[in-house]
Amino acid sequence: MRIILFGSPGVGKGTQAKILSSKFNIAHISTGDILRKAVKDQTPMGIKAQSVLNRGELVSDDIMIGLIKDTLQQPECKNGFILDGFPRSTAQAIALDALLMELNIKDIHLLAITADEEELVQRLTQRRVCKQCGSLFNYFDIKDKTNCPVCDAGNSFYQRDDDSEKVIRYRIEIYKNTTKPVLDYYEGRKKVIYINGAGEVDNITNDILSKLEPDK
Ligand code: AMP
Repeated sequence: MRIILFGSPGVGKGTQAKILSSKFNIAHISTGDILRKAVKDQTPMGIKAQSVLNRGELVSDDIMIGLIKDTLQQPECKNGFILDGFPRSTAQAIALDALLMELNIKDIHLLAITADEEELVQRLTQRRVCKQCGSLFNYFDIKDKTNCPVCDAGNSFYQRDDDSEKVIRYRIEIYKNTTKPVLDYYEGRKKVIYINGAGEVDNITNDILSKLEPDK
């Protein structure tokens, strides 16, 4: 199974990608997570990307396309993968199509999750991440607990630097101007499966599973 998970920041891509990757036993490729790790490790790519990430802007297409080219050829992607956060521009979508052709990958499901803009802002300002296992939570669900309910690490919750309201609104603007047009590129080329991202996580997962067709 190969999936592109498309949608605005805060729409629930990361949460659903984690569930789907464990359900189908496929690699979860979050370009945001890869970049944040590179920043933490201060690799050459991380040093270049750090200020861009903090401002909520997009890292250059050249860097991102190179990163995805390397990643999709790793053995862990052989059984399938779910792309979370890529492509984010039409240039990235065109490069991805060329790469999939090169790798002889024909079946890929495109899921576009949608949600109301104010709900996205609220979700992102309340989002917390476990620094140990990367699980995502709403602040109000965890505030009285000290341990991560997924990996049991203590005091491990943090807020991403780019989850402040000002940066969130900027990221959503970039999504509308640069990332959303990717759907226009895909319309007519691939079947776009639209998913309503409002509501309970389990219901959204069930909706996705009911709409995903098996590979041919
Ligand atoms: P995310 O965790 O998906 O919200 O991504 C966090 C940040 O990483 C974004 O705001 C961008 O700065 C950067 N980023 C992640 N994926 C991409 C991409 N495909 N193209 C450009 N920048 C990206």
